[in-house]
Amino acid sequence: MRYLGVLGGMSWESTASYYRLLNQGVRERLGGLHSAPLLLHSVDFASIAALQQAGDWDAAGRQLAAAAAAQGLERAGATALLLATNTMHKVAPALEDALGIPLLHIGDAVGQALQQAGVRRAVLLGTRFTMQENFYRERLHQRFGIQLLVPEPAAMTEIDRIIFAELCCGQFTDASRAFYLQQLQTLQAQGAEAAILGCTEIGLLLAGSQAPLPLFDSAELHVGMGLEWLLGAS
Ligand code: GLU
Repeated sequence: MRYLGVLGGMSWESTASYYRLLNQGVRERLGGLHSAPLLLHSVDFASIAALQQAGDWDAAGRQLAAAAAAQGLERAGATALLLATNTMHKVAPALEDALGIPLLHIGDAVGQALQQAGVRRAVLLGTRFTMQENFYRERLHQRFGIQLLVPEPAAMTEIDRIIFAELCCGQFTDASRAFYLQQLQTLQAQGAEAAILGCTEIGLLLAGSQAPLPLFDSAELHVGMGLEWLLGAS
């Protein structure tokens, strides 16, 4: 098996899931004592989140691409990279420019799964950057023909607040779970056929919930893409 790089810490709550799911996936497929050959670089999320707030995406891209981060993973022997966050795929081009190894794009993992399931209209839940800006929406539309529906503005603000103030801090409350499920119900009534959990912590909040729509968890699908790479199928 070849080494897979994981650039995480955004937040570490979901990077811990990536680590567990990648190892579980290898064990399920290969058995015995097999585990995932990984190189992990985990950032201090506070500095990245501050750059997001300031709108300084160029600096954030430089920090993630830096010699100590993504380029360090490549130098250490990673043959491909998982950037373990949806939001920071806004700076995917900066990483792709800096790297000689492929970036396994989370939007492609999600888009392929929706396409295979025959979904055309899906709710997108994520940070305000992911829900409101074009980098995610355009990729899913242009490459996979998926139309995305998002909650109304006040609900988007609350969804975003919950991600940064609660989920990224390891808090998973019944009230926030109920709020997210309510949004799914509202958007189902507007014609959504499925929902993208387009923030890697949302799956942790909704785990085991009775959702009104089929859920496509970006973290799980991204891990699946990493496993295909690790096990040599792509
Ligand atoms: N993990 C989240 C995501 O998938 C949010 C944290 C971030 O802004 O990177 O978008």
